[in-house]
Amino acid sequence: MNEPQDLEFDVSLRPSGLNEYVGQPVLKRNLAVYISAARQRQSALDHVLLYGPPGLGKTTMAHIIAAEMGASMRSTSGPAIERPGDLAAILTNLQPLDVLFIDEIHRLSASVEEVLYPAMEDYQLDIIIGQGPSARTVKIDLPPFTLVGATTRAGLLTTPLRDRFGVVHKLEFYAPEDLVLILKRAARILRVELRGDGANMIASRSRGTPRVANNLLKRCRDFAEVHGEGAITQAMAEIGLEAMGVDEIGLDETHRQLLKCIIHKFGGGPVGRSTISAALGEEKDTIEDVTEPYLIQLGLLERTPRGRKATPRAYQHLGLNTNQNQDSLFSHD
Ligand code: ADP
Repeated sequence: MNEPQDLEFDVSLRPSGLNEYVGQPVLKRNLAVYISAARQRQSALDHVLLYGPPGLGKTTMAHIIAAEMGASMRSTSGPAIERPGDLAAILTNLQPLDVLFIDEIHRLSASVEEVLYPAMEDYQLDIIIGQGPSARTVKIDLPPFTLVGATTRAGLLTTPLRDRFGVVHKLEFYAPEDLVLILKRAARILRVELRGDGANMIASRSRGTPRVANNLLKRCRDFAEVHGEGAITQAMAEIGLEAMGVDEIGLDETHRQLLKCIIHKFGGGPVGRSTISAALGEEKDTIEDVTEPYLIQLGLLERTPRGRKATPRAYQHLGLNTNQNQDSLFSHD
């Protein structure tokens, strides 16, 4: 959980315009065109679906879209909208051209999704009044609005919902040089002295993720203030990262535990997601959405039809040889 103070920082660290948003060049270039076309026509921007692992900037982009459209943003999430009436209340309170941001949109219930279809397609709300044979449908016009949906897994969206988004974009992990820019900007806002080699070190261990980069920066600042003179040098960053258990490729204890579990308990895999989840005592979705994507990106983990498999590179990274899994079946519980 973030401390309230961290949340505050998070908000102030969010870039507020497209020109401040680092990386994701294709998304930025295309959105700039769509937004200026929509503004010229004085119509709402088409609905946008952003997907990819957490912390890559989906929520931030939704805020930016609203700001660039000169509109307000209303923010909610799939699990928070329990009944169709909840969504109807949100939709009828929107102003023309507003952005409605729904995080974890794959978790909307089927009955809520039904309400969303005509709202997205025709800016209309179909309300059923009464029950049984005397029930009738009343149509209510909604102001033109833009739905920005975010999800960690586009594959879980139903086809009718996915098809109603005019813009669908996958966010990619960030290159270290982009993370350096994000870190330098955050350091300016947080008024912390971040040296070039300190920034490079944190960026190279941030798993391609701006949220991780910003969090590591804040924690390294703590180490620099307590153990040094406040400036984040390469040496200070190294002390902080080591203390937090973040290794030279950015993995922390959670990632290493997942790999070790597959190697030591299941002979390197393939092993099913539910089995791993039970062995680690961790939610299946958290493993799949948060822990696995970067391991897959680095080629340390493979998703096969029969389950997860540790790659030779994973053994190498952990300093194990590929025969070690068999022996360890006897040496581990
Ligand atoms: P998501 O919604 O994908 O989980 P967020 O939009 O909440 O991710 O981003 C997490 C944090 O990372 C934000 O508070 C913001 O400070 C930072 N961030 C994300 N993307 C960028 C970016 N492209 N440029 C600068 N900072 C970013």
